[in-house]
Amino acid sequence: MSEDNIKKMADMLRRGASLLSQSCPQCGSPLFKIKDEIYCPTCEKKVVIVKEGEPIPQKVEGLMVSDLSSVLYDKLRETVESIKNESDPSRLQELLRVIVGILDALERFRRISH
Ligand SMILES: [Zn+2]
Repeated sequence: MSEDNIKKMADMLRRGASLLSQSCPQCGSPLFKIKDEIYCPTCEKKVVIVKEGEPIPQKVEGLMVSDLSSVLYDKLRETVESIKNESDPSRLQELLRVIVGILDALERFRRISH
């Protein structure tokens, strides 16, 4: 931690900020709370903390999971198609591994989206 950052943090405390137990998700510096805002003195910006156990904002979660799932379903279809035309056993093994990996990932997404 640079001297400059320490100075900034000391300055925050002087201004009545309180030191939080959380750290900045971007730089790992301790975070400060001023009034109702959480602030990172190193990034010099406001930080929005998603507390553990708190639901991820619906928009983010829905978008991420559905995007990933649809990409994976496309890949799954492609891979299944390639299996139909594949006669090389080692290549088949490889394709099957891909399918198992995709199914595993989809299963995980299902778990976090419900
Ligand atoms: Zn930061």
